[in-house]
Amino acid sequence: MTSYKKIQVPQEGQKIELKNGKLSVPDFPIIPFFAGDGTGPDIWRATRHVLDQAIKTAYSGKKKIVWMEIYAGLSALKNYDKDTVLPQETLDAINEFRVAIKGPLTTPVGGHKFVCLVCSAEQNEDNGRRPEKCVKCGSEWLTPRFRSVNVQLRQKLDLYACVRPVRWFKGVPCPVKEPEKFNIVIFRENTEDVYAGIEFENGTPEQKKVYDFLTKEMGKKFNPDSGIGIKPISKTGSQRLIRMAIQYAIDHQKPSVTIVHKGNIQKFTEGAFRDWGYEVAKTEFRDKIVTEAELWDKHNGKLPAGKILIKDRIADQTFQQLLLRPDEYSVLATPNLNGDYISDAAAAQVGGLGIAPGANIGDKAALFEATHGTAPKYTDKDMVNPGSLILSGVMMLEHLGWQEAANLIVSALEQTIQDKTVTYDLERQMTGAKKLKTSEFGEAIARHMGKAASVAA
Ligand code: NAP
Repeated sequence: MTSYKKIQVPQEGQKIELKNGKLSVPDFPIIPFFAGDGTGPDIWRATRHVLDQAIKTAYSGKKKIVWMEIYAGLSALKNYDKDTVLPQETLDAINEFRVAIKGPLTTPVGGHKFVCLVCSAEQNEDNGRRPEKCVKCGSEWLTPRFRSVNVQLRQKLDLYACVRPVRWFKGVPCPVKEPEKFNIVIFRENTEDVYAGIEFENGTPEQKKVYDFLTKEMGKKFNPDSGIGIKPISKTGSQRLIRMAIQYAIDHQKPSVTIVHKGNIQKFTEGAFRDWGYEVAKTEFRDKIVTEAELWDKHNGKLPAGKILIKDRIADQTFQQLLLRPDEYSVLATPNLNGDYISDAAAAQVGGLGIAPGANIGDKAALFEATHGTAPKYTDKDMVNPGSLILSGVMMLEHLGWQEAANLIVSALEQTIQDKTVTYDLERQMTGAKKLKTSEFGEAIARHMGKAASVAA
């Protein structure tokens, strides 16, 4: 076992192992977590309580997660050397223990030099010196601007698929008429595209060099005062993502996989993503799939029993389709940027980010996370909705194969929402609802699981 400087590896519990590419999960797995910045600690406390209760109720002590704290963002600044927001041993621990869960992290947005990890405010030097305190909240936890820790985690751990199931929970207020028709799982490529971080700022020598190359050597024309970003999309990156999406559809008996792209405009990146997707479907899953062209050419428009339909849609059309005919979609595979937009839009359609879960999955490790940010204005108010992280925990339990505990949480969460006992974000959209704190919402879910267990007994 790797030795760690700040991470305390628990005495009890065992490591999850990979055997022949499959997870081997002990009854007492050690699972690393970090609560995150801003409202992260509030939602993590509620989530951990719900997960522990569900496991206890489902397995009567025969299984249990042994939690191990690791550090990133503000917690890393507090525990490691100055300005360390993502320690190497956090990455090592996630790789070694295979499955981890995290709260949201502050990510700098503007062009300022320093970032406050408590309230997300950004500011410049103070008379040429590093500011001692945040101008907005007064905290001392200011650190020089850094690249998104979330993006670094995904890239450094090669967590190439961002998986986001989006479905409606009965009782959740939402803007569409038939939310029950919406039940999709989005596989978003997580490491390439414009997120590769290959950008050149206008006015820099690097930008000038790239501009000169593109205009003089490649014959392209565009304004010389442009910022320049590069969008790499590879065959390897596309095919491993689409392969995972198709395998998921097979394992979960889903009717279709839709490859979403903007290939009509970006032919050699997004268009290639589509072509490589069909290639992997036809070469690796030939006996399990039918393409949309084959559906009409060979099967008169009727999908043969047991087969999965592989189709593709242009990204902008996909937004319309998800609003108008959501029940025609099941699993989506998308490049990075499109997937980012579609995931949030889809979550809004069924009631918002507060209850949208997510996971970042690679071949060696998986990291489950809340999909929303740190919501800094609610920090330490015990107020925001922990549903997103709780449902990410449900995805994690399913990943471990602990389906009974996962099911208990989902039905208790549904029950809690149907009782109209919810956090402020849902309460303000419901009539006659009772507003609960983050911790109370977690308690309410745990109570429902307890009731379900005593009825079953
Ligand atoms: P945000 O933290 O997601 O919050 C935006 C708004 O969404 C909140 O003000 C709140 O709306 C609502 N919201 C978010 N989480 C909620 C929850 N759990 N329950 C109920 N409502 C919730 O987005 P942001 O303010 O743009 O970003 C803040 C920081 O988080 C930034 O540093 C950003 O980069 C970072 N971020 C991190 C991640 C991540 O770690 N995965 C993802 C996105 C953003 P109302 O005010 O209307 O109630």
